[in-house]
Amino acid sequence: MAGRILDWLKREGGEPASPEAEALARLAAARDAAEAANEAKTRFLASVAHEIRSPLNAIYGYAQLIERGEGKDALSAARVIRRSAEHLAHLVEGLLDIAQVEGGAMTLSREAIRFPEFLDQLIAMLDLQAQAKGLALVLERPERLPEFVHADPKRLRQVLINLIANAIKFTDHGSVTLKVDYRNELATFTVIDTGIGIAPEDAERIFAPFERVGSAAAERPGVGLGLAITQALVHIMGGEIRLDSRPGEGSRFTVRLMLSQPLTPPSEPAPEAGAVTGYIGRERWVLLIDDDAAHLAVVRGLLEPLGFQVRTASDGESALAAAAQFQPDLVLCDVALGADNGWEIAAQLRRRHGAALRIVMLSGEVHLVEGDAHDTLILKPFAFDDLLDCVADQLGVEWVRAAGEPRAAAPEAPAAPSLPLVIAPVAAAHCAEIERLVRIGHVRAIEAEIDALAALAPEAVPFAERMRAALDSFDLKALAGLAKMVQADAA
Ligand code: ADP
Repeated sequence: MAGRILDWLKREGGEPASPEAEALARLAAARDAAEAANEAKTRFLASVAHEIRSPLNAIYGYAQLIERGEGKDALSAARVIRRSAEHLAHLVEGLLDIAQVEGGAMTLSREAIRFPEFLDQLIAMLDLQAQAKGLALVLERPERLPEFVHADPKRLRQVLINLIANAIKFTDHGSVTLKVDYRNELATFTVIDTGIGIAPEDAERIFAPFERVGSAAAERPGVGLGLAITQALVHIMGGEIRLDSRPGEGSRFTVRLMLSQPLTPPSEPAPEAGAVTGYIGRERWVLLIDDDAAHLAVVRGLLEPLGFQVRTASDGESALAAAAQFQPDLVLCDVALGADNGWEIAAQLRRRHGAALRIVMLSGEVHLVEGDAHDTLILKPFAFDDLLDCVADQLGVEWVRAAGEPRAAAPEAPAAPSLPLVIAPVAAAHCAEIERLVRIGHVRAIEAEIDALAALAPEAVPFAERMRAALDSFDLKALAGLAKMVQADAA
């Protein structure tokens, strides 16, 4: 509308618009924008109401059936109610995220994260989910990645988890790959799947809230907020997200973000605690309760080597029997156990074994917590370190750790080739600039300065090559050292 008013003013007047006319057009533009925002909000609220109504109806309907004693199969009714409640819980989580983003209330942290480890942990977190569907989850990354980058780990993880979890959800055969590239501070994450793909006409709307496309989406869990949140987060981080997909052949979501490197890579990172290898004190017994055999095997594989006596059970009855038989110190109990309810098992264990038994619930969903029999709850997927922290907390044990990895001694640097006197002052100026740029971490500008240094004279080329090698391996300390050396020579 405002655009049209301006066009009209231009057309009619032929002259530049008067200040009054321009003010009028600006007001009209502001009013149009407010009206459009209002309409969008109304549409959004209608979608939210619609999304809330269907699970709510299911809960209401099935609860009434059970109440009247008409529910033939109370267990399956309870399952529908649980699933509907889970759906609502997801919805609330998603809406809170969206509200935070839209309200401008989402602030990003900026932390130096260990990049390769961050990626490994992410894959480890989602690997079980992929395995459960018989899919290979692959991390494809260059051999060389910076050890540290600046990012908000929570939000970056949320973006990548959303994309990888979607890829797993919409793929039935083949693989899901997270491909990572890093060049000149630009990180490119590509999540590639061999799944059902997305039709070109849907490629844009899947990023809008509540848009779920194709019949396959209706059969799979989800509320349709994941991509809307993912896109919003990527934009807040100053990045971009793109989709390439062909129906039936798979999808490829690409996220590009500037992730700078700390200028002085935390040269003295908090001393890395060595890996946990055991604990001090008497032998502790742990009972794992989960109907997912793969999950039992993973946690058992984590705890047994540390000296815990581990027993497993896949349902309530065998869990109670095992607990009676060997009196565990700690129980790790999944919330959703097929036909059994983890909360009830926890309550029975508490009644029979009293407060001395520590009970940790494991949940794959943001559940409404039931009862107070348990001591704490961990959300799945969890990082192993978090689980170990929780175990130590509950049992009050102190870990024995391996000695930290000895740091490899830096290779002795070969003597620097010296530069001809004529170019020394200019080279020193370039090097002073390089030193400054190293401090602010402007990699592209450093590359340009190194190029300029190399162009000064053939004798400068080997020196520039060494600087480039240091830059390529992100050895900024060595780079700054070389730059200093040239300046000292010239002085
Ligand atoms: P949800 O996953 O909860 O449905 P999203 O906002 O994450 O919501 O995704 C919106 C829709 O986009 C999905 O319902 C699905 O139709 C489509 N989609 C997302 N990722 C993929 C993928 N990797 N392959 C095929 N379709 C996808």
